[in-house]
Amino acid sequence: MSDFYALGLAPYASSPLHSRGRRMAEMPAPTRNDFQRDRDRIVHSSAFRRLVYKTQVFLNHEGDLFRTRLTHSLEVAQLARSMARSLALHEDLVEAIALAHDLGHTPFGHAGQDALNHCMLEFGGFEHNLQSLRVVDFLEERYALFDGLNLTFETREGILKHCGLAQARELQAREPSGVGARFIERTQPSLEAQLCNLADEIAYNAHDIDDGVRSGLLSVEQLRGSVPWFDHYCSKTLTLYPKIEGRRWLFETIRLMLSEQVYDVIETTRAALMPLELQSADQVRAYPEALVVFSEPMQEASLALKQFLSTNLYRHPRVLQTTEQAKEIIKDLFLAYLHTPTEMPESFHARHDRERAVADYIAGMTDRFAAKEHQRLSGVSVLSSIQDRAVLPEPPSGRASSAGDGP
Ligand code: MG
Repeated sequence: MSDFYALGLAPYASSPLHSRGRRMAEMPAPTRNDFQRDRDRIVHSSAFRRLVYKTQVFLNHEGDLFRTRLTHSLEVAQLARSMARSLALHEDLVEAIALAHDLGHTPFGHAGQDALNHCMLEFGGFEHNLQSLRVVDFLEERYALFDGLNLTFETREGILKHCGLAQARELQAREPSGVGARFIERTQPSLEAQLCNLADEIAYNAHDIDDGVRSGLLSVEQLRGSVPWFDHYCSKTLTLYPKIEGRRWLFETIRLMLSEQVYDVIETTRAALMPLELQSADQVRAYPEALVVFSEPMQEASLALKQFLSTNLYRHPRVLQTTEQAKEIIKDLFLAYLHTPTEMPESFHARHDRERAVADYIAGMTDRFAAKEHQRLSGVSVLSSIQDRAVLPEPPSGRASSAGDGP
């Protein structure tokens, strides 16, 4: 166990020295541990660079200050690292998982995923967590000796956040006792994987308020009236800084909410771990429930905010209007490539699993590449019509309605 103490890790943390290894064995790197090496491979992958042009909530070209999948992933990594340090978990592992967790997202956010899943219903469906795993296991073409990035079990375990039973069985058939096993055996992943899950939730709860208000689709008054938790922190900010207004007021409120969630996770998790005296990451995996959790009141507050965002932002008529067009693009592309596979690069059209090859190709696209391909293949320019309609109102800066798109 001495290596754990030397690394400043808790005994229940994941350690590269006790890794279950890579699918294809490799010599260790001379200066980096295996989780660092995973993180570095992810950062250098093509899929990671594409995240900058992929939609989080707002289409990529709707405004320069909205989150994209890339900035979202960086925020998740920051939060996860910071919490991992407090809990003496492995920071490199959480960073690798956080940076890779959204690699499998299609263009156009959840609308893209829904459309692609619909196209693939008869062929095994499409799910972005599984696709993230496909990206790091098969689809990246960078290395001489293997497909994908050949990441460690621990990073892949964290990337596969959810998985249906049928898909888990498929994974299990290819890789016995691999990353699919826990969905069959109903066991837990490492604490680092559990932590990334919550960091993801904390990140989007915070940045979707910011982006929602910036876009003018949400207002601070509406949030205060509907989300008591938000209202509480708005008032608290005003008590702390009586003269605060506009964007600073919103940002300070979000900052307080974010910190509160981080402290809550750290405290609740410490309290849950302490009496258990777990001595290894495998004991964490065998424990019947997740241990990195919010307290119950925080869980409820987070859920209420999520429900508000779901109804008022993700399903706002302006968002739905653009997502309908995004779905059309994905559906048209799917049919076009299925009909004429040679429109895809050779590495995709030469494959025998045609529908999956088409799904892999489309899932890898950025928003703008998908729209450009759609225009090339259909002659219809949906992107420009999305752009025309996507000029969102710039809310005035001030206490009444808050953040604009300013610097
Ligand atoms: Mg995410």
